[in-house]
Amino acid sequence: MKRKLITSLILALILVFTAIPVAALSDSITVEDPVKNVIVLIPDGMPIDAVTLARWMQDGEPLAMDEIASGMMRTYSADAPVADSAPAATAMATGFKSHTGFVGVLADENTMPGQEPLAEKDVRRPVATVLEAARLMGKSTGLISTSEIMHATPAAFSAHVPDRKNYDWISEQQVHQGIDVILGSGRNFFSADHREDSKDMIAVIEENYKYVTTPADMAKVTEGKVFGLFGDTALAYDMDRDPELEPSISEMTEKAIELLSQNEKGFFLMVEGSKVDWAAHANDPIGLISDVLAFDAAVKVALDFAKEEGNTLVIAATDHANSGITIGSKDTSYDYDKRTLNEFLDALKKATLTGEGLALHFDEERSNIEEVVAEYFGIEDLTEEEIELIKETDLTAMNYAVGPMIAGRALIGFTTNGHTGGDVTLYCYAPENVTRLTGVIDNTDMAKYVELAMGANLAEVTDRLFVRAAEALEEKGGSAEFDEAEGAIVLKNGDKEVTIKVNTNLAVVGDETIELPGVAVYSGDQIYVSQEALDLLD
Ligand SMILES: [Zn+2]
Repeated sequence: MKRKLITSLILALILVFTAIPVAALSDSITVEDPVKNVIVLIPDGMPIDAVTLARWMQDGEPLAMDEIASGMMRTYSADAPVADSAPAATAMATGFKSHTGFVGVLADENTMPGQEPLAEKDVRRPVATVLEAARLMGKSTGLISTSEIMHATPAAFSAHVPDRKNYDWISEQQVHQGIDVILGSGRNFFSADHREDSKDMIAVIEENYKYVTTPADMAKVTEGKVFGLFGDTALAYDMDRDPELEPSISEMTEKAIELLSQNEKGFFLMVEGSKVDWAAHANDPIGLISDVLAFDAAVKVALDFAKEEGNTLVIAATDHANSGITIGSKDTSYDYDKRTLNEFLDALKKATLTGEGLALHFDEERSNIEEVVAEYFGIEDLTEEEIELIKETDLTAMNYAVGPMIAGRALIGFTTNGHTGGDVTLYCYAPENVTRLTGVIDNTDMAKYVELAMGANLAEVTDRLFVRAAEALEEKGGSAEFDEAEGAIVLKNGDKEVTIKVNTNLAVVGDETIELPGVAVYSGDQIYVSQEALDLLD
């Protein structure tokens, strides 16, 4: 009887222990002294075979990334095993999984295994990012991308919108986030002519930043806040890039570090190699190699700084894999081990431009396709069907046409034009005072690790920046309303009134404008403002 009781007690204990999720990150990470600087680098949609291929393209010489590979990362979102960039980056920025298209806000529901169910009031709730936490600690902050800066990954670190395609709202939040250094692209989406809201955000940028549009002007900035937009939409693939018109991702990283490191309290910087993902979507090995190597050069810049400086954390991982690229294709199913390295590399090494670069050389009638493809892409045996396909393809989608042509000749396989759900490589360089992040981690652990390492508290920052305004004010007899026509949040309590333009940090009280510590967010249902905004009504 007694023995039976003990057995059931032990069983109950085992059940209790197995029911507890994986040990908290704080149990395995020791922070003797918080790190001063954090650099997060994200090569968007970077599949592992693309990394191997990039390494072979430099004759097997190690990549900068190789030195700091430390584990693997799981990438699933709140409700799908294959993630979209928006929830994937949201997990890495906030420590919470989310839903396709959502940046910086929680999901509608958590349905993947091991997830806590999402409470009704937490649906689409904005959650603080590590960038916002760093800024509130007095650190300088920076964002870099090679796509338009309001694209999903940089957006997830700097905005809170349940729709990644809402560039107007995302970019307006980015401009009002108090970020010190923004370098990337997407001028069109800040300019009045192209925006749905017709707001001239370039003018707002010029009021608050040194606004630069060329590498030469970027080089001249040696202090202060800078906003660099070097293209109308995305930047070119590194291989196609005109260095007079666009800086490389490593040049942007170097400049950002130079400026941000002037703050004695340290800095947080996020760098995205955006178009690794686009090349993968296109099944284009040349674009992949181009931008994986360019991204790796940025990792080297970050790593060199970190080693020299001594109190800087460098962490990198792609947000999800993409395309199922493999070294070896269906054509090598039965003789893969007899294929020489040159059989894989020769075709790839002849290309000096990606499809986007080729597109600039075609004449109007596209009568010179064979010459251009031979000269810049190294393919001299285009078939009639291939020529026809190139002729019919939209110039902006040329990587989708020519990428697979070179892939076939280089025995490179692809399984999909979409993202894939496998684990990805984690890269981490930690200074001596912090345990290095290793093992198989979840994408949310990246944010939690950065939080721990900086000595920040994301939950407190969320509670401070994103209070449900209506609920808080109704308790006191006041009100919070969203005036859709004006795009304004109107807070009232007694005879006091505060108006905040949605997506900004600017509160208007009478004829005074007050800067708030964060942007005001409207989720489509709820109004979220900082505690400081509510305090103005006391
Ligand atoms: Zn992505």
